[in-house]
Amino acid sequence: MCEVCNEKESKENMMRHSMAHVMAKAIRNLYPNTKFAIGPAIDNGFYYDIDLDQNIGEAEFEAISKEMNKIIAEDQVFTRKVVSRDEALKLFSDQPYKLELIRDLPDDETITVYYLGDDWYDLCRGPHVPSTKYLRGFAYQFNRVSGAYWRGSEKNKMLQRIYVYGFTDKAGLKECLRLVEEAKERDHRKIGKDLGIFMLSDLVGKGLPMWLPNGFTLRRIISDYIMNKEISLGYLHVMTPSIGNVDLYKTSGHWDHYKDDMFPAMQLENEAFVLRPMNCPHHMVMYKNSLHSYRDLPIRIAEVANDFRFEDSGTLIGIERARCFTQNDSHIFCRPDQIESEVQGIIDLMLSTYKDFHWEKYRFRLSLRDPNNKEKYFGNDHLWEISENALRQILKNRGVKYYEAIGEAAFYGPKIDVQVESALGHDITLSTLQLDYQLPEKFELEYIDENSEKQRPVVIHRAIFGSLDRTVAFLLEETKGALPVWLSPVQVRLMGITENNNSYIQSICEKLRAHGYRVDADMSNEKIGKKIRSAQLSKIPYMLVVGDKEEEAGLVAVRHRSEGDKGTMTLDEFIKLIDTAIAEKI
Ligand SMILES: [Zn+2]
Ligand SMILES: [Zn+2]
Repeated sequence: MCEVCNEKESKENMMRHSMAHVMAKAIRNLYPNTKFAIGPAIDNGFYYDIDLDQNIGEAEFEAISKEMNKIIAEDQVFTRKVVSRDEALKLFSDQPYKLELIRDLPDDETITVYYLGDDWYDLCRGPHVPSTKYLRGFAYQFNRVSGAYWRGSEKNKMLQRIYVYGFTDKAGLKECLRLVEEAKERDHRKIGKDLGIFMLSDLVGKGLPMWLPNGFTLRRIISDYIMNKEISLGYLHVMTPSIGNVDLYKTSGHWDHYKDDMFPAMQLENEAFVLRPMNCPHHMVMYKNSLHSYRDLPIRIAEVANDFRFEDSGTLIGIERARCFTQNDSHIFCRPDQIESEVQGIIDLMLSTYKDFHWEKYRFRLSLRDPNNKEKYFGNDHLWEISENALRQILKNRGVKYYEAIGEAAFYGPKIDVQVESALGHDITLSTLQLDYQLPEKFELEYIDENSEKQRPVVIHRAIFGSLDRTVAFLLEETKGALPVWLSPVQVRLMGITENNNSYIQSICEKLRAHGYRVDADMSNEKIGKKIRSAQLSKIPYMLVVGDKEEEAGLVAVRHRSEGDKGTMTLDEFIKLIDTAIAEKI
């Protein structure tokens, strides 16, 4: 059964799907022992999963393509035939995957088989193009082959999934290939390597990125930026350990609800420790460490903290998805009557941060509990209703556009997430905000109200950079590595026309560093053209070129990485220029 039959039947999809049958027949002609699984249309073409001892790869694509073109040229006809279950089982007696699909069909299902020509048929609901002459204008190109488990389960055999790009016309294919190339260019793993941002090593461990000098500088700037902003908003920064006693996570509920995503416990002396997957439990214990009056609230504890989660090795993506990451986290302890103003304050902080980073393509998502799967969450219906409605109301009042997503809540409460799409097309969460009545209950947190009575505070979890690492990945992909001046690990590179200019360069370098700019110098004996190219490749925003003429006049020739020659000026004039760029965050 081709999965595509359930998809919307646009003309393009019907052609893609028909092409999948053509490819299957071509493969059968070339490799008669092939066992076929499924062959749906997808966003940019189609694929077919096959079981064949021989590996299919680039070397085989040409022959398969030639065979496909032959079938198309022969104008072979697609013919629909209704068959009984017994007939179907007989027709596919040498195709074990098709047999499994047939056996799984409901008893009352009409089974159809489509013939392509006289000597090939496939199990399918259709529809298809009437004959292959309708595929003559179809533009396709083999993409790649990857492993795919039969029915997506690791328990089953790994099949070969042959991906093909396919569009109704050449223009569609061309645009798709252009976007694929651009995505490759933007891939943060490539840029991260080229610009010396981070490295990975199997010896260190899969999914454990190490930040190189340029990368660490970039992280430090982002982390300083957000901490300074938080300080101006009354947040208090703290530091807590990266591991915790298992009992801490039993108290918080993570041990019951989140254990599968955590690294296993380390048993030592009479304690069991785990690497922390998040910082909330530590912060709860910290709040509880002292007495709080209603007058002290809200208390906003913040930490730029390392967390560890166990991700399958197959799902790791550079610094976008790793096993160790850093959160720009905060827990706000407040009275129920302060929820609205606190949440609004957080949304404002998000919006002003995105503005500084020039991010515009974000989407607010209200992440709700799945009411059909209540056992996944804790707390009662009443509290869930109150908190879901509260967040919805605040988003409405704030006039923020948002959409709702059922089943995306945290196990302890609903969330507001801010989603962006990465260059590789992944939907990722930049920021998050979660309302929580449960952890204060679990940790028995209290404050004393105006009547000297004990009350439970509400906790708001929030991370503007939910993962600093993912933020860096996103930034690299958005800017193709050409970071704005305020974020560039190296803002200025100095270079002399000849080695004679090196001591003058050295003195300018020191002056600029003393002013707080991040500067380096190219002292190599390469030609100036080569030095400029190297700085361009490193995406350094400003290049200061100095020859004998500039040195004698006490000037510098300024080049910008995208604007080119900016003319000759004094160092003070250059400082004014770069300060403006930094202030405007461009
Ligand atoms: Zn079909
Ligand atoms: Zn938290």
